[in-house]
Amino acid sequence: MRKGLTTLLFMFTCLCFLNAQITKDTEMVPSGKGYGVAAPAHKAPSVTTGNGISYHGGPIMPGTVNVYFIWYGNWTNGPHASDSPATVSLLEALFSTGGIGGSGYELINSTYGDNTSNVSGNLVLARTTTNNYSNGKRLSDSGVQSVVSKAISSGVLPNDTNGVYFVLTSSDVRETSGFCTRYCGWHTRATISGSDIKYAFVGNPDRCPSACEAQTTSPNGDSGADGMANIMAHETEEAISDPDLNAWYDSSGAENADKCAWMFGPTNGTIGSGGYNQTLASRHWLIQMNWENTRGGGCDQTKGGTFYNF
Ligand SMILES: [Zn+2]
Repeated sequence: MRKGLTTLLFMFTCLCFLNAQITKDTEMVPSGKGYGVAAPAHKAPSVTTGNGISYHGGPIMPGTVNVYFIWYGNWTNGPHASDSPATVSLLEALFSTGGIGGSGYELINSTYGDNTSNVSGNLVLARTTTNNYSNGKRLSDSGVQSVVSKAISSGVLPNDTNGVYFVLTSSDVRETSGFCTRYCGWHTRATISGSDIKYAFVGNPDRCPSACEAQTTSPNGDSGADGMANIMAHETEEAISDPDLNAWYDSSGAENADKCAWMFGPTNGTIGSGGYNQTLASRHWLIQMNWENTRGGGCDQTKGGTFYNF
């Protein structure tokens, strides 16, 4: 469910010397008295490794992460029943207080860190807005970025470097780089209004249930909302643990949620008949597991839980 892989594969660092004399640089910092002093030794990396996923030096998103929804298209009475206010309220409840943020499920993500801090597992839906097809019914990747950019530059949504902005499209919107054929959602980052803005695309999967939904008879009786919940959880975890696509991924370029994509573990009821594996915001959901960066690594439904491979 992720894009940006091509970029990652061609990223490398140059360890090169400009001249033959190799000197050991000592980093200097201001003393406050007009002369420089040697910097204190850098704090040793606090990241946990050796669990099937590697740290590549980039930042994670610390603290409580703010989530923003941009409901793009027709979420009042679109072509599918799920293009509806009911879907909007289900997903807004899932990301509001008492939902996915801080849950045992989201705390799996707190096993990731950078040299400064760990992912908290806390997130909250900070603000939502709508967009009435400003870029039409055919959205390119740059069109998705444009939708985010317009929301920020107009002041409808804040400029927040610790936020994840979701562009959520109704089922009549085509994402032309491959929604329903190559992916069900994706996340990336861009410099928008001078800031490092993290954003994601998730479309209503009722456009293509066989490609992007685990089941059409779903726990909340709303296959679009239930399908989006699964994809949005995936993209949220990756956006927080690998916001700039340079922190956490494995040797094949898979980020944490990619390693557990479409794997749910044991369920209450059967997948296909409304089976579920999470209860969040007082409702049942079928949401994929996430890769826990402990105990050798594995997919589980809740932090510290049993690892499953199905
Ligand atoms: Zn992914």
